[in-house]
Amino acid sequence: AANERESLFLISEFANQYFQEMLFHSEEGKAIGLTYFKERGFTLDTIKKFNLGYSPNVWDALTKEALSKGYQLEFLEKTGLTIVGEDKQFDRFKGRVMFPIHSMSGRVLGFGGRILTNDKKAAKYLNSPESDLYHKSKVLYGIHFAKQAIAKNDTCFLVEGYTDVIQMHQAGIENVVASSGTALTPDQIRLVSRLTKNITVLFDGDAAGIRASLRGIDLILEEGMNVKVCTFPGGDDPDSFAKRTPLQDMVAYFEENALDFIQFKASLLMKDAKNDPIKKADLIRDMVSSISKIPDRIKREVYIKEVSRIMDISEEVLFNTLAQLVQKEV
Ligand code: ATP
Ligand code: MN
Ligand code: MN
Ligand code: MN
Repeated sequence: AANERESLFLISEFANQYFQEMLFHSEEGKAIGLTYFKERGFTLDTIKKFNLGYSPNVWDALTKEALSKGYQLEFLEKTGLTIVGEDKQFDRFKGRVMFPIHSMSGRVLGFGGRILTNDKKAAKYLNSPESDLYHKSKVLYGIHFAKQAIAKNDTCFLVEGYTDVIQMHQAGIENVVASSGTALTPDQIRLVSRLTKNITVLFDGDAAGIRASLRGIDLILEEGMNVKVCTFPGGDDPDSFAKRTPLQDMVAYFEENALDFIQFKASLLMKDAKNDPIKKADLIRDMVSSISKIPDRIKREVYIKEVSRIMDISEEVLFNTLAQLVQKEV
């Protein structure tokens, strides 16, 4: 099985080189792929650093090339790069710009591919399927490029997408990783937790982004980490924000607008519930529920006091509620 994994690694690396070759040296890749990345504001250095590529709009371009170089169909299929049909084999990724997904140590595990049209019927992003190499719940896009900056700054930004990671790097903020389309998982958080205990969630400024932030908070707290949330105005995501904001202003924005999770939840209430007592009660329960996820008892107490203060409710009631939620107390 170790040999098989190695074969899958070799094929992924071959595909990685092939997609880059197509981006930089094929007429189609240059005209379509490279133009697309440049229009998004990515520099050549950035495109090269992240090994971005292009898969030609041909049904078996990669498969044919790989087979001719002696790579085995069995392993091509196992990486998901090739789909084997009744009487023919074809590429999973066709006519897409390619984002290779690297492990912590920098090996290619899989790919994300983005369509170039605004065709609402096609999936905007297509990812490698689960394989012996690629487990989407265990990878964080960008971790290989971010790990040093995360350790050095002792904090990590968590974003939703590939382009958010890339645009922030290009802007000069390198301690950033993306969950890339899957709901955040404990395994993903543990990858970061080896490097820092501090995460700032920077999800998209839409309703889906807010919902995902709320889900992410409890998971991060459960891992014993500190979590802040910084939201963006309107339809912005970190990519669009980073593209039009100078570095200094970006850093200042994060410093001024990153809220600890209690403040973030309180701010949602201000928007949503204002004077509705039932909604306020639900929200307070929800805050205490998040606090109950924190393994450290002292931190729990500090946060309970904060909720008491900002929501104007007695500590006693909050501690009682917390006690009901925390079963395995020492
Ligand atoms: P772009 O700026 O290129 O339009 P984005 O990164 O802002 O993309 P979102 O729609 O915000 O895209 O989605 C966030 C992430 O979720 C994407 O980067 C991608 O990893 C994943 N994703 C989005 N749409 C899909 C899809 N249809 N299938 C699988 N994953 C997806
Ligand atoms: Mn989104
Ligand atoms: Mn987005
Ligand atoms: Mn975007």
